[in-house]
Amino acid sequence: MQTRQHPGDENLSREDAAARASVIVVDTIEVDLDVRSATDASREDFATQSTLRFRASSSETWVDFLGVSVEEVEVNGAQHPVDWDGARIRLTGLTEENTVRIRARGRYSRSGEGLHRFTDPVDGAVYLYTQYEPADSRRVYPCFEQPDLKARWTFHITAAADGVILSGGAEVARAEVEGGVRVSFAETPPLSSYVTAVAVGPYHRVDGAWQGDRQSVDLGVLVRASLAEHLDADEILDITRRGLAFFTTAFDQDYPWGKYDQIFVPEYNLGAMENPGLVTFTEAYVFRGAATAAQREARSNTILHEMAHMWFGDLVTMRWWDDLWLKESFADFMGTHANVATGLHPDAWVTFASRRKGWAYVQDQLPTTHPIVADIPDLEAAKLNFDGITYAKGASVLKQLVGFVGEDAFFRGAQRYFATHAYGNTTLEDLLAALEDASGRDLRSWSAAWLETTGLPTLTVERGPLAVVQDVVRPHAVRVGLWDDEAGRLVARGDVAVDLFGERTVVDAPVLPDTALVIANVDDRSYAKVRLDARSLAAVTAGLSSMPDAVARGVVWAALWNAVRDGELAASRYLAIAADHAPRESHPALLNDVLAHAAFAIRHYVSDVEQSSAAWLEGAWHAMATADAGSDAQLIWARAVGVAAELSGDRAAEMSAILAGEAPAPAGLPLDPDLRWGWLFGLAASGHADATRIDAEAERDATASGRTARLAALAARPEVSVRRDAWRAAWDDETLTNDHLDATIRGARAGETRDLVAEFDVDYFERILPAWRSRSIEIAARLVRGLFPAMDDTSAVDAWLDAHTDSPGSLRRIVIEQRDHLARDLRVRAAQAQLTQH
Ligand SMILES: [Zn+2]
Repeated sequence: MQTRQHPGDENLSREDAAARASVIVVDTIEVDLDVRSATDASREDFATQSTLRFRASSSETWVDFLGVSVEEVEVNGAQHPVDWDGARIRLTGLTEENTVRIRARGRYSRSGEGLHRFTDPVDGAVYLYTQYEPADSRRVYPCFEQPDLKARWTFHITAAADGVILSGGAEVARAEVEGGVRVSFAETPPLSSYVTAVAVGPYHRVDGAWQGDRQSVDLGVLVRASLAEHLDADEILDITRRGLAFFTTAFDQDYPWGKYDQIFVPEYNLGAMENPGLVTFTEAYVFRGAATAAQREARSNTILHEMAHMWFGDLVTMRWWDDLWLKESFADFMGTHANVATGLHPDAWVTFASRRKGWAYVQDQLPTTHPIVADIPDLEAAKLNFDGITYAKGASVLKQLVGFVGEDAFFRGAQRYFATHAYGNTTLEDLLAALEDASGRDLRSWSAAWLETTGLPTLTVERGPLAVVQDVVRPHAVRVGLWDDEAGRLVARGDVAVDLFGERTVVDAPVLPDTALVIANVDDRSYAKVRLDARSLAAVTAGLSSMPDAVARGVVWAALWNAVRDGELAASRYLAIAADHAPRESHPALLNDVLAHAAFAIRHYVSDVEQSSAAWLEGAWHAMATADAGSDAQLIWARAVGVAAELSGDRAAEMSAILAGEAPAPAGLPLDPDLRWGWLFGLAASGHADATRIDAEAERDATASGRTARLAALAARPEVSVRRDAWRAAWDDETLTNDHLDATIRGARAGETRDLVAEFDVDYFERILPAWRSRSIEIAARLVRGLFPAMDDTSAVDAWLDAHTDSPGSLRRIVIEQRDHLARDLRVRAAQAQLTQH
């Protein structure tokens, strides 16, 4: 037995992975996992054993494992010395055919990485689930942790008997053992380690089925027992059935993985994960209170995104993380495409235009941006690349490609790709070949221009003659929309298709003297930042909410926001346009984004925070009060009131009275626990709710969410001692779970309290490298990002970067990105005085 606290060579490199793949071929991995210790809070560890069968052309290789201890290694029936550096178990004396059995002890996770253990404060029930991508299955069982070493997996899980015991495959046997049961699952088809999965605990389950033309699939929807009353399983099952019907037809392939369980799990680090047959989702998608159409659309999008992965990612998998985009861009595109194609959310591309593209634009202007096809030297770099480029820019560019080759050819190409590479691994080349075959078009120059470059063109319009100018030259087709102003209403006068190749393209269409508004890329088909000319800006300032086309409005809202971020439009002018037109914005996703941008502008860009935030709070309060009772808009504005209350206490008395039941809430407004906490957080941050008040709310909402919200609200109180405690807890208290750490960070950043936290600037730069070395990457990244100080200049961060040129590349990437966000804040804020003079 060998025990190690600090893993050795944990950050697997592309070179090492390629070298290992060149000498072994994996056949099967049989996992025997014993989690009977889970319900004993004093126990941190569990027993795990892997039996790996593989061929080798070298006498040596290694197996990956991160955990408490490796107790026994057996190679081809003989004991083998345990040679484990904390990350790799070295094997020697291998022959052509090998059976390696490794017995080890793993550690339950609190960070959401590996085998996460959660105890429900409502009923004391203990829940386990796994999350692995990109490389955390090695925290649960010894394995070959790289996507191109697929194995057929057999799982046996021993656990307490009172609950569900799930893996990706179907249960085939069950035997009683001391203190529980041992459940065995069917052998899976070939799978990469990062998409295997396990879930154990008294989850509530709703069953369903999907009957297709050629197959039937058993469905399950699961959630913690204490959330069962909030689970709208019917809607989720409906989306699932529609999705399976759509994808099996569009891909011309049966669903490959037997059953399809979807489980909503606590303290989840991401939206969802595409484990074949056992998809994991964040519990945020189980709505405890009122949910807007935008929230339901987002959930549906995620369900369909994960389902697309059953083929793209799971059936056919990227060879290494450089091609992560192969699955993520595709699934991100498919989530929206299928939302429309299944009839669930016909205007889903509006949300895409605003939210997904907004994410991509921000990321693509950072100094750390990268081509969609990325250079990923190691696992830490892979972990950071689940970003706005890999997902949203990639999906935007695929949307463009579908426009270019046509939807039929695109899906024919996908069918060919799946048929050729099922259960295998691929690179960009394989996808291009399939699409070229199906479309008969050369995609190399398209790939070189869009997949293998960074940055985005900004499109501006000239009026006489009408021309589109791009600062970064890319080949793309856009539509230019023309709008007249008819008595204060903007009326579409049609649009013109333009192929852009060079810097300046003259458009063959007359702009009449009375053309009020010209929008390049009006249908949002291409990936570009749109800039409005002065006349168009005046037109949308007056008439934005009169435009009936939601995609065009989305493009305009995005153009305005990008101009603010670039220091070309005064933040105060954006706030004025938002105050005027947002109350009449009928698309809930657009409204959400506009309100989020307005709140961001007040915190980061305006010169007079106090006055702007008071005015914004008044506007939000009025919009909430006058919105239709029970409407999405009313709820969205009510949430915005909570956010605005962080910076202004002007409505604190009314909000407190409504929360206390001493004054009526606006008619039809659902004052559910999440909204109550949103308001209370705002009140706490502006000094209008003390610990007694916060604790009383936590008693009223004695759930896991309530417990987390209480932590955030307590940490948000604007007191020196509170902020000091929160700061220390975030960095030093390793018992904080991922969610509790987030809550602490959120509290520590609340309100306009720079004077309370400026004293920690020096400490931040002293702590980040040690934290990166000692904490898991998930937790370390949250600390480095979340606690980056909002300083008045960049000198301290520049000094750190200069002094730490040899620090880990992924840590530097985060610091460089935070520096860039800060520099932009400072630049934009400095530009305000001049912008508002005009
Ligand atoms: Zn995905």
